[in-house]
Amino acid sequence: MRTEPPPRRDPASSRERVLTGLAVSPGVAIGPAHVIESGLARVPEYFVPPDEVADEGRRFADATAKARRQLRKLMNKAAGLPESAAEEIRYLLEAHLAIVSDSRLVRGVARRIAEHRLNAEWAVQAELAFIVRQFAAMDDSYLAGRVQDIRDVGSRLIRNLVDRRYPTYSAMAPDAVVLAEEVTPADTALMDPERIGGFATVLGGAEGHTAIMARSLGLPAVLGVAGLLHGIESGQTIVVDGTAGQVVVDPDPATLEHFRHRQARMAAERAQLRALIAVPSVTRDHEAVHLQANIDLPHEVAAALDVAAEGVGLLRTEFSFMNRSDVPTEDEQFETLRAVVEGMQGRPVTLRTLDVGGEKLASALGDRFPPSSNPALGARAIRLSLKEPSLLEAQFAAMLRAGALGPVRILLPMVATQGQLRQAKAILDRVVRRLERRRVAIADPVPPLGAMIEIPGAALAADALARECDFFALGTNDLIQYTLAIDRGDEQVAELYEPLHPAVLRLVQFTTQAALRARIPLSVCGEMAGDARLTALLIGLGIRDLSMSTSSLLRIKQRVRQLDALAARRRADVIMDQSDIARIASLIADFNEAL
Ligand code: PEP
Ligand code: MG
Repeated sequence: MRTEPPPRRDPASSRERVLTGLAVSPGVAIGPAHVIESGLARVPEYFVPPDEVADEGRRFADATAKARRQLRKLMNKAAGLPESAAEEIRYLLEAHLAIVSDSRLVRGVARRIAEHRLNAEWAVQAELAFIVRQFAAMDDSYLAGRVQDIRDVGSRLIRNLVDRRYPTYSAMAPDAVVLAEEVTPADTALMDPERIGGFATVLGGAEGHTAIMARSLGLPAVLGVAGLLHGIESGQTIVVDGTAGQVVVDPDPATLEHFRHRQARMAAERAQLRALIAVPSVTRDHEAVHLQANIDLPHEVAAALDVAAEGVGLLRTEFSFMNRSDVPTEDEQFETLRAVVEGMQGRPVTLRTLDVGGEKLASALGDRFPPSSNPALGARAIRLSLKEPSLLEAQFAAMLRAGALGPVRILLPMVATQGQLRQAKAILDRVVRRLERRRVAIADPVPPLGAMIEIPGAALAADALARECDFFALGTNDLIQYTLAIDRGDEQVAELYEPLHPAVLRLVQFTTQAALRARIPLSVCGEMAGDARLTALLIGLGIRDLSMSTSSLLRIKQRVRQLDALAARRRADVIMDQSDIARIASLIADFNEAL
């Protein structure tokens, strides 16, 4: 969609600042900033039952005692440093010790626990924010230095209180706009689009999972915004324009009016698209194109049904391993899958086994695997599952059991070799036999086992892999990342991440033709499937199954219905003869504009 520029402003009276970044999830959010300060732990927030308040107070007292021990230890260590450094550090640690022994911070936290029944971590966070705000108002450089000491002590206390830290978005104003150095994919899994307007970050690329999650939650988002957190405080009015890639801080009244108008226009367009829910997804020349949903968690089933998705083309099971400190049991996994399979009411569901590693870290698996020096190329996805067969067995068992409740397929991520497929199949067979012996109800027949094609080598060996599996799912997000050697989550190279690079398109074409030759189904479940600009090209290459964020589905259906599949094929033939990205882009744009 074309966006008009915001109105000019009067520099003399205006406090408005416009920052730019990557437009990763379309839409406009307007709301109060909720700044997640880097360096400060984000903590669980809850009210303590009245009869546990005294215990909570003791928990806090224990955390302060532990902090005092830690600081004394550090002072002993510092004594061994050269004199000038030792003196400097001693002053600092003494100041910290004084704060943690008796200070406004400690007294304020104790009061918040006793009087407001806040849990200790939340009480520290709240008191800290209060003190920092007061100091900031004093505009004094000596006091600014003291604020840092108080912050450091607060962080130490929180670290002592929590084993693992999970973010929380529960104590925010309605429609708040989250501003943070980084939002991880696990963080996004905790965001409730009913409460959050949108978000912006300093770090993050356009095709990382954080961006994908923002799109699937329908949250406007701008990532990679340099200087985002400078001079920003929670409560300031923020506009996040996820379509143009802009963040406006303290917008002038005319700017606000402009963005409110855009919000209303976009809402009207969304309402118009809803007219397509009931109509079939067919091209003008009557070719059916199946549109399914990518989801991460069971609560997204409602959104998939709402847009009449024909099934779930990709369930990323790794999200059920995030934001928790233990690995979900087979039964827990089964319950999650059951919610999705039953929720989809007979429509097919493709269940992908764990794809952790790389940028998707699952806290549940935190200590089980040593950190990799190059995580994107390390022990992630199927490699990790085959190293730890008990994980894969529990996943397969849960999937087979869920398959008794509705049609499912099982999908393996990051497959590179026939050997991996054979190994996985052997494990699956073993699990089937075990469950049958125990007379547990499982899918009958055993669900199809498929491979994600998302490594360039796998795409080039697609013929060989097709002989060892039942279907392909093209993961264009990783395929682009690995073909072009562009980290999909790194804002610094985001402009080089290019789906239209001829190497990417050739791998997509090669894989599609290998699937057609082997007569196995193929779908595209990477973000290319949800990009309306590319629909004609994918259909022209012979692809008839697309799986995407639910928020893109109706827009793609609109595109499919405008298209002529035969004309799209002719255009794809011309495009596949090209080697220049700009020429490819213009051939696509011309075709799209003529629709
Ligand atoms: C992909 O790589 O295209 C894909 C769909 O998987 P994920 O985004 O989960 O890596
Ligand atoms: Mg992938």
